[in-house]
Amino acid sequence: MKTKIVLVHPPLSKVSEPPAGIAKLAGGLKANAVSYQIIDANAEGIHYLLGQTSFANEWPDKWSKRACKNLEANVAALQNIETFQNKSRYSRAAQDVNRVLNIAAKPYGATLTLSDYANNLLTPARSADLLRAARMPDNNPFYPYFAARLMAVIQEEPEFVGFSVNYLSQALCAFAMIGFVKNINSGLKIVLGGSLVTSWAALGEGENKFSGLVDEMIAGAGEEKLLELLGGENKKRNCAPDYDDFPAQLYLAPGFILPYSAARGCYWRQCAFCPEKTEETPYQPLPVAQVNQELTQLIKKYRPVLVHFLDNALSPSMLKNLAQHPPGVPWYGFARISGELADEDFCIALKKSGCVMLKLGIESGDQEVLDKLNKGINLADASAALKSLKKAGIAAYVYLLFGTPAENETSVQKTLDFIVRHNDCIDFLNLAIFNLPIASAETQNLETDRFYEGDLSLYSSFRHPAGWDRQAARNFLEKTFKKHPAVTPLVKRLPEFFTSNHAPFFIWQC
Ligand code: SF4
Repeated sequence: MKTKIVLVHPPLSKVSEPPAGIAKLAGGLKANAVSYQIIDANAEGIHYLLGQTSFANEWPDKWSKRACKNLEANVAALQNIETFQNKSRYSRAAQDVNRVLNIAAKPYGATLTLSDYANNLLTPARSADLLRAARMPDNNPFYPYFAARLMAVIQEEPEFVGFSVNYLSQALCAFAMIGFVKNINSGLKIVLGGSLVTSWAALGEGENKFSGLVDEMIAGAGEEKLLELLGGENKKRNCAPDYDDFPAQLYLAPGFILPYSAARGCYWRQCAFCPEKTEETPYQPLPVAQVNQELTQLIKKYRPVLVHFLDNALSPSMLKNLAQHPPGVPWYGFARISGELADEDFCIALKKSGCVMLKLGIESGDQEVLDKLNKGINLADASAALKSLKKAGIAAYVYLLFGTPAENETSVQKTLDFIVRHNDCIDFLNLAIFNLPIASAETQNLETDRFYEGDLSLYSSFRHPAGWDRQAARNFLEKTFKKHPAVTPLVKRLPEFFTSNHAPFFIWQC
């Protein structure tokens, strides 16, 4: 059957597991008898670039030489669970693989890491720069890879090529690939979707900026719109993801990780400054019976070593369901601090169901800040939950946010005190500096500067009401917070580049 659409996951995002968005689309297309092809250009492109430098001897410094020489062994190490028993061995392998990727992109004026893509001259938050990337695809470090790969599929004459762009780090490469496709065949229709495109649409941006290059931009969940566009039967909706056509051997993880969403949106959706609130994404949980059935089938088919729940926050009812119906393999995901998690017996039930790690957005150790952010959590529950998870043997991956408008010098000290008091219950700490989303209602109470990055910028600079600006927050983070003896080990434990995607492997061994 002739391919109707080629679905592309462009570089660059973490290459530890297949992209869930395209897998969900693939499931819907297959169930409705629409022919498609999948290209994980992120995984293929990264391996292509690594392959280009693996035998290079002329790198000027010892580190680069060593990294090139040991590339194969280091890639294998990141795919071997034994490496995760020794953090220094893991860090060396990750940093050395990253080094090779980094030097491979240098001649193109790009800075590549295993988790990010930046160009010295172009920013993905500027539509003019994205159009420039499309006009000059051969300036992209992945060009030699994608030119050959896309040329081969274009010759099969699909009607559409779809690009799924979820992160800013993918945007410049996506547009370089789109430019290449249009150069070869201007009649081929380009579809652009993914969560970055959804965020642009929420700002009222994007649609009109890429006319002539992009034929369809799909905001939000893409299955139905895509089926409409492709003239599929559109009878079967909300189908299970399909991972058949993804290159499992290319992912840098010790076994296949199965990404799975039990819900779209967030059941809380009230935190100030959260895109889920700003973009008014509806909360759409799948029926529990469907989740259990799909998980059983997917696990039987793909035999993953780990299930990664992608939900913004697993609801208490879904957590209860998982405790009652264990998926049969280890799993992890995001959860909100709640009374349930404070209950030791409940955490033990979760542990027995295979839960190895929960990601928790605690954000601040100051209750006043949490209340102003409308987090809907209290620190007493957070404290009890951390202790219960610890007793149950579930790792806590805690997120903190510095520099929010509600924060000041006193509150960050309270955050430090909270972490020091609970450092024996926390396994990983993710520390971030606050970015103010342009479209959030709260911006009306702040002095802002809209276009500080570009016309597609999702964030705005602002004058902090208490003078506690990004620089002050960053200084505190670097000079005080991270230097505290109770915090330093938690920060150092964070897996380089892959962060939470690799963290469960340090806790639980296959
Ligand atoms: S719980 Fe997370 S996803 Fe939900 S509204 Fe808050 S920050 Fe957003």
